[in-house]
Amino acid sequence: MARSRMILPAHDPACRRLFHADRLTAEGHRIALEIWLRATGREREGTRVVVFRCRRCAGFHVARKRKVPKPDVVGPPAGLSEADEPNLIMGL
Ligand SMILES: [Zn+2]
Repeated sequence: MARSRMILPAHDPACRRLFHADRLTAEGHRIALEIWLRATGREREGTRVVVFRCRRCAGFHVARKRKVPKPDVVGPPAGLSEADEPNLIMGL
């Protein structure tokens, strides 16, 4: 049977994280956790809360992850000169 071959999400105490059987409930937990951390002032600079699929239990967990800094994001792109700006405004 196809059903028996599927890896079904099951709670595993070894994960030591809150278990979610599907991504949607995990996302709900993530959003609630973000709001809670912000409200209680425990939000840490350079980190974010992410949902990830666990290889051990096949379920979803919510964890804090360090943001990977992107050096390219700082400042405007090299190709964007002042001459390009009027076109951008007209494009709006
Ligand atoms: Zn797990």
